[in-house]
Amino acid sequence: MIKQPKLKVLSSAAAILITYTLTGLLTVSAFTGSPVPGGVTLLDLGSASEPRPQANYGSKRVMVIEEDGRWQGLVGLSLKTLPGDYIVRVKSGKNSSADKEMTIKVLPKTYPEQRIKMKQKKYVSPDKDQLARIKKEKKHMGKIFKIWRETDVSVKLSWPVKGPISSPFGLKRFFNDQPRNPHSGIDIAAPEGTDIVLPSDGIIIDTGNYYFNGNTVFVDHGQGMISMFNHMSKITAKTGEKLKRGDKIGEVGQTGRVTGPHLHWSLNLNQTRVDPMLFLPEVK
Ligand code: ZN
Repeated sequence: MIKQPKLKVLSSAAAILITYTLTGLLTVSAFTGSPVPGGVTLLDLGSASEPRPQANYGSKRVMVIEEDGRWQGLVGLSLKTLPGDYIVRVKSGKNSSADKEMTIKVLPKTYPEQRIKMKQKKYVSPDKDQLARIKKEKKHMGKIFKIWRETDVSVKLSWPVKGPISSPFGLKRFFNDQPRNPHSGIDIAAPEGTDIVLPSDGIIIDTGNYYFNGNTVFVDHGQGMISMFNHMSKITAKTGEKLKRGDKIGEVGQTGRVTGPHLHWSLNLNQTRVDPMLFLPEVK
C-alpha cells in the first residue's frame, strides 16, 4: 500500500525540532524537510494572501510554493554544505521595504561509504578522449539544471519505478578503491525493460546518451525542480513533450557505469541534488 505523505508548513526551527524528535522513529520521513547536507530546509515566507515572494540562496533562485495559506520556500542543500548558518534573501512580492534576510541552520549528517567493484576500467580511469567527453557532458548538464520555469509545483512525488532501493542517496563512493563523487541520487533496482513513469507532471527538457549516466532523460517539474533519469535501456519520451504524473518516459536498463539493471534518479532543487526519498510516500 502506498501512503501519501502529509506536507506540513513549518518554520525551519520547528522543522529542525521535529527532525530531532523523530530521528530514529521514521523509516521514510514525511515531507517535513531535513536541514542536512543533501536535504531540504523549509522556510515560512508569510501569508499567501500577499503576492508570492522571491527567495535566493546564494545566487540560486529557491522554489516557493503555497501550502495551507502560507508561502513556503524549499531550499535544497548541497551534499558539500558544511554545518552552520546560511542566509536566504527574501524579496517581498509587495514592496521592497519588506525585503529581508533569513538564517537557515544546516545540521551535520554523515553518510555511509559504498565500495563498488567495476570490471570495465574505462568507467574507473577514463582516457583523455573520454575525459573530454565527460567534461563536455558536465557543462551541458549544468545548463539544464539552471532552467527555471515559473509554475505551481507539486512536491508530493510518486515512485517512477517500483522496486527496492539498491543504493541510497549520499553514499561516499569508491570505485575499485578510488574515491569518487558521492551518490547524488537513488538507485531503484528493477528488471531491464520495466516501465519508468514520471513522478510528477513535467516537460521533457532533453534526452541523450551520457558516458557515466547512459541513456538519460531530463524533466522540468517547474521552479527549478528537475529530475534526471539514467541508465535506461529505452527512451520513449521526446524533448519538448509535456507529460503528466504516471506517463511513461522509457524503460529500465544498464547503460553507462552500472553493475546491473536499475533506475538512477537524481532530483535537483536550486541547482542542487537533494534526496528524492524526502518527497516520496512510504511503501508498505
Ligand atoms: Zn545511482
